[in-house]
This record gives sequence, C-alpha cells and structure tokens, in this order.
Amino acid sequence: IDNFGIAAALEQLGIQEINNGTSTGNNSFASGALLESYSPVDGQLIAKVKMSTPDDYQKAITAAQEAFKTFRTMPAPQRGEIVRQFGEKLRENKEALGKLVSYEMGKSLQEGYGEVQEMIDICDFAVGLSRQLYGLTMHSERPGHRMYEQYHPLGIVGIISAFNFPVAVWAWNTALAWICGDVCIWKPSEKTPLCGIACQNIIAQVLKENKLPEGICCLVNGNHEIGHLIASDTRIPLISATGSTRMGKIVAQTVAARLGKSLLELGGNNAIIVTPDADIKMTVIGAVFGAVGTAGQRCTSTRRLIIHESMYDQVKEAIVSAYGQLRIGNPLDQNNHVGPLIDTDAVRMYSEAIEKIKAQGGKLLVEGGVLSGEGYESGCYVKPAIAEASNELEIVQHETFAPILYLLKYSGGVENAIDQQNGVAQGLSSAIMTNNLREAERFLSAEGSDCGIANVNIGTSGAEIGGAFGGEKETGGGRESGSDAWKVYMRRQTNTINYTTKLPLAQGIKFDL
Ligand code: NAD
Repeated sequence: IDNFGIAAALEQLGIQEINNGTSTGNNSFASGALLESYSPVDGQLIAKVKMSTPDDYQKAITAAQEAFKTFRTMPAPQRGEIVRQFGEKLRENKEALGKLVSYEMGKSLQEGYGEVQEMIDICDFAVGLSRQLYGLTMHSERPGHRMYEQYHPLGIVGIISAFNFPVAVWAWNTALAWICGDVCIWKPSEKTPLCGIACQNIIAQVLKENKLPEGICCLVNGNHEIGHLIASDTRIPLISATGSTRMGKIVAQTVAARLGKSLLELGGNNAIIVTPDADIKMTVIGAVFGAVGTAGQRCTSTRRLIIHESMYDQVKEAIVSAYGQLRIGNPLDQNNHVGPLIDTDAVRMYSEAIEKIKAQGGKLLVEGGVLSGEGYESGCYVKPAIAEASNELEIVQHETFAPILYLLKYSGGVENAIDQQNGVAQGLSSAIMTNNLREAERFLSAEGSDCGIANVNIGTSGAEIGGAFGGEKETGGGRESGSDAWKVYMRRQTNTINYTTKLPLAQGIKFDL
C-alpha cells in the first residue's frame, strides 16, 4: 500500500501515531474508548481513534456556544475570507486527503480526489455567497414605514454524516453554515473517523492562523449514541443528517419532538429511463458508471434501468458485455474500475440481497459473488451484479447499498416508464436517455419525475455543487450545497420601521387613546 504513499498522506494530515492505540490528530473533544478504523482496501488497521464521551460532547457544545457569540458578529464577507483560506488549505492537501478518503472508505483514488475537489468548489461558491445573503425589501401598506427582511445566523449546526462521502458532505454543510455565521459540531460516520480528524486538522490551522476559536468547528467521533445526543439537543437549532432512511426517520422524530429544524439527505433508489430514442453508447457509459462507481455506494448510484421493450435486448446485451470488462481491485490502483464495499457487514447485506432476488423471482444476468484470494484479503470485494426483475419486487423497492443493477422493461409511452420510476418510496435522483424532446420535457414536467434531481442524457450519479442537492419522499426533502440552500442555515427576520411621528396600525385598525 505504501507504494501509494498512504503513510506520507497520513503524516501530512497530522495523523501520525499509527497502530499504537492512542488518539490521533488535534481532536480535543475525545477521551473515550478506542474506535478502530480498518481499511476495506487491504483489511489493515489504519489507526485507533478515541471516541467522544457524553462529557466531551458537553465540552464541545460549550466551546461552540462561546465561539458563536463572536462569530455571529463578524461580517459575512470576513467569514467568507476564512472559508477562502480553508479552500486554499484544501488545495494544498488535496492529494493527501483524497488518498485517505480512498484508503479509509474504499472509493477509487480519482473519486477521492474528486470528493476533495467538491470541497474546494463549495468553498469557492460560499466565498461568493458571503456577499450575497440577500433579503427582500417590501412596500409597507402604512405611510412613512419601511419594511424588509434579513437573515441572521441560527447558532450551532449539528452535522451527522455517512461513510460514503466522508469529507464532502461535511464541507457542503460547513462552508455554507460558516458564511451564514453559524458554528458547527460534526459527527462523522464511525466507519470513517480518520477522515473527520484530517478535516479537523486542516481547518484548525486556518482558525489558528486567524486567531479564531476552534469552537467554530467541533468534531465529535463516535456512533449513533453521540448522534442521538446531537439530535436531541435543544441548543442545536439545525440538524443536518445524511445517511440511511432508517436513521433519518429516527433523527427526524427526535428533532421534531423539540421543534428543531432538520435537513435530511437520505437513501435513494435511482433509475435511468431508456427510451426508443436513447443514444445507446451514452446510456451504457452512464448506466455502468452509475451502477458500479464507488461500488454502488453513492446515494445517487443507479439501481434501476427502465428500458423500452423495443430496445431491451440491445441495451441488455451492451450492459452485460460492459460488465465483462470491469476490473475489480485496489481502488488506489487507477487501472481498476471497482473497489471494495465499506466493510464485511455491507458484503453480507449484498449477499443477502442476491439471495432475495432469486427467492423473489428475479433472474440474475450477471451473477455477482464475493471475491477472495490475493488482493481481496479484506473480504470486502464483490462482483457487480445485474438482475432482470420487476419494479414491484420487495428487493427492488429497497435501497441495497451495493453494486446491484435491476433491468426493468416498459412498453407503450414514456408515461409508463415514469410510473415505474416514481413507483418507489425514495425520490433522490432520476434520468432519462432520449433524443425525443417531447419525452424529455414530459419527464421534467409536473407529471414527470418526482425526484429532487432529474437529468436528461446524463446518468443519475453525481451532481455539481452549484445546484441544490437533495430529494423527496423517503430521501428526506432536504436541500444542501448550491442555489439558495443557504437559507436553511439562517433565521429570517421581518423588520418594519416607522419614521413618522404617528403610529398608524396595520389593516387600518383604529385605536385612539
Ligand atoms: P447510516 O444511516 O448507517 O449512518 C449515517 C450516520 O448516522 C452515521 O454517522 C451514524 O453514526 C449516524 N446514525 C445512525 N443511527 C443514528 C441515530 N439513531 N441517531 C443519530 N445518528 C445516527 O448510513 P451509512 O451506512 O453511513 O450511509 C449510507 C446511506 O446514506 C445510504 O442510505 C445513502 O443513500 C445515504 N446517503 C444519502 C446521501 C444524500 O445526500 N441523500 C448522501 C450520502 C449517503
């Protein structure tokens, strides 16, 4: 592995005490039991990380509350300058952080770099936005009155994130939260704690150089128990939670019980519709990358292909043949297309899903299976599978977080494909491959896709930071990243100012004394 420079990357990121049972990095809110981080790439123990105890958590909250008192009064463009410097530090550390993401999470090196690039991009976006946190001015119905609305910081933003985007999701949230004047407390996935520490070490340098308190950005490592402390804490007005729908339902109820705000980014069950007018070459590239990229562990991974009967055999053959070319192995080696799943639990879930496909009447076209032997010692490598199925099967309705692609058939007009596309509980990403304007527009219309993301002649997987990102139904309804997603990180205030010597009441009400 060291051929890939992992040890040097860890050192650059301040994660130096490897395998000696002590904590790593600058994480000051951690004194609890040790959490072991194993790489799915080679099964090696990378480091042991101290988890945060409830007491550590209280200290982090106190630090965050204290930091908020000053941070909220710093002009937004100055906060933008901090985010700009953070983006610069990320550029300096892109290679090292990208490698750590790849090694700890198992995605390809290119995708690891791509994830850090997303962090840099959101910083750039946020810097510009820091001068554009616009409110509206309205006309008052009362003479001599001025009315407008403005946005103020909320306070502490609690971020709970998933393993599959171990650094970018945090950056999407924090870069916006910071320019909005909020401070953050972050609990990364317990499957990728070192990515959390690496990010904390990078931002800690920026905060130190600017003589700002580290409470602006607090890290707590641990499992769902710390997650629950965050979700239930009335001192945290906004919880941004990314992960499974199962987790989202629990967190949403906990936050709602205290009337807090939540921003939920949960599971997807994303489909590409392939119409008679589709470009087959583009369809195959989009579908295969969407289904096997990140070993099917993206929230936007392509899980279903809904193919018109007239194209079905042709598309099926092309995709099955493309799967024959896939190289599965070490994701740090750029010759490989598919890396490992995150851990052996994920492998078990993949194997169970394959059994369910057979039991429920699906037909495997590409068998799949768990790989063993040289290069696969971690036990986390599986073969991407393809199954012919129907949308109603229980297993097809479910998000299996692994490289399993379902081929579904439709006949008649595109509305029948849209019915299948929408006929699942999740609503994150969707796509249509077509050169037919009517079909494309129908797919994008009010009677089209019900997802938060709807693409034409692009697959379902991945998104640019400039658009608002998120999905409907069981995906949770949250939006983060671009467009006006920043508004969720602020509280809106309507202000009316009377510059006369009279006090006229609204709606013409008279109240003479
Ligand atoms: P997960 O739900 O197991 O864990 C996500 C995070 O939630 C972790 O930090 C975990 O510790 C925490 N958590 C779990 N239970 C909790 C509880 N009861 N209270 C508070 N916190 C709790 O998800 P995962 O396996 O890490 O990630 C995969 C899932 O995330 C997939 O479903 C994927 O689609 C989804 N995801 C969605 C998006 C999106 O933007 N929509 C992005 C990435 C991942």
